[in-house]
Amino acid sequence: MAYSYEAPVSQSLFDRASVVTPGGVNSPVRAFNAVGGTPRFMVSGTGPYLTDADGREYVDLVCSWGPMILGHAHPEVIGAVQAAVGRGTSFGTPGEGEVALAEEMVARVEPVEQVRLVSSGTEATMSAIRLARGFTGRAKVVKFAGCYHGHVDALLAAAGSGVATFALPDTPGVTGAQAGDTLVLPYNDLEAVRAAFAAHPGEIACVITEAAAGNMGVVRPVDGFNAGLKELCAAEGALYISDEVMTGFRTSKAGWYGIDGVRPDLMTFGKVMGGGFPAAAFGGRADVMAYLAPAGPVYQAGTLSGNPIATAAGLAQLRLLDDAAYAKVDAVSAELQGLVSGALSKEGVAHHVSTASNMFSVFFTDEPVRNYADAKKQEAFRYTAFFHSMLSQGVYLPPSAFESWFVSTAHDSRAVERIADALPAAARAASEATA
Ligand code: PLP
Repeated sequence: MAYSYEAPVSQSLFDRASVVTPGGVNSPVRAFNAVGGTPRFMVSGTGPYLTDADGREYVDLVCSWGPMILGHAHPEVIGAVQAAVGRGTSFGTPGEGEVALAEEMVARVEPVEQVRLVSSGTEATMSAIRLARGFTGRAKVVKFAGCYHGHVDALLAAAGSGVATFALPDTPGVTGAQAGDTLVLPYNDLEAVRAAFAAHPGEIACVITEAAAGNMGVVRPVDGFNAGLKELCAAEGALYISDEVMTGFRTSKAGWYGIDGVRPDLMTFGKVMGGGFPAAAFGGRADVMAYLAPAGPVYQAGTLSGNPIATAAGLAQLRLLDDAAYAKVDAVSAELQGLVSGALSKEGVAHHVSTASNMFSVFFTDEPVRNYADAKKQEAFRYTAFFHSMLSQGVYLPPSAFESWFVSTAHDSRAVERIADALPAAARAASEATA
């Protein structure tokens, strides 16, 4: 299939959107600011494919930023949603679907003894941090530069480096007070964490980390990093919070916990567990969760929490995610990693494919990437050229060099072939790109 590069209908929708919505989008990365060009307005998705408003089909390697691990419009997920919709859309009361979803999560992820459902990953991390502060009676939070935990005020602080630097707010609107109790440390640097605990004895409520980082591109924790965090937290009376919004139920049946086995005190989830609907969660140790209202004093609530449509979609998706499904996603991911790397090597483009289970991204550098500072050293302009070449050939990649690529069980040999066909020209474009 030939693809022309113009997208007139998407462009006219973007023009309309820009009048009534800031920047024309409801989440910044969708605007293509990092790569330029016209954001594609999608109208439908089936399996591994998306179709845009101009009628062009793309192999989707974003998968809604992770949730669509079974591909788009999976018949069993759609069936569960249709059945749930027929019974009504929201009751504001407890319902059986929430219980079943919580039971499924507790059964899969051993450290999760209890779970509270919310509607977004942001809500999950915000609530987990409030709970950690309420439980410990401490104020300070440690996070790592380059880790994204949603747009929680206290966690948007990513500025500052080195040991125990008090973070400056990363965005206007976040006050010094909101970010002042956040310590931002370099990822994969246990010494920095040790020093922060030494500098603030008895003051740190929790350390929050992405279980494996996916928001600076994919950067996996070095051996012993997560275990070291857990150990330091336990020794210092702080809680270890593993943010599995991205990795949860994607990297294995039990998420990243299923891979490294490091037992967090609290965990956060989103994306895959919602089956494409707004559902997220936080959970963990029963004695900590018991501090949550109405069982305990830490307040947290939500009109649409545990929404019956979202829980039906999430439960249907999780139930389909058995060992065979993960084996399939892992195999497609490995095949794509090899194809991308092969094409770039053939054109002599410095790169390495960075992985965390089936999540991966390509760094345009041959230096090792262990943290955000390393990630930023890559030649991102090469990604821009690569991205646009792939897009013009009908492959939809994340519109930023600092994002994970996602595949699904629906990425079959035909979809992989289409990607493989597009790679040589994209690799050439990356090699010829100039800053
Ligand atoms: N935590 C992580 C690790 C994420 O990747 C994200 C979103 O990408 C979030 C939290 C926030 O989730 P949401 O976008 O649902 O608010």
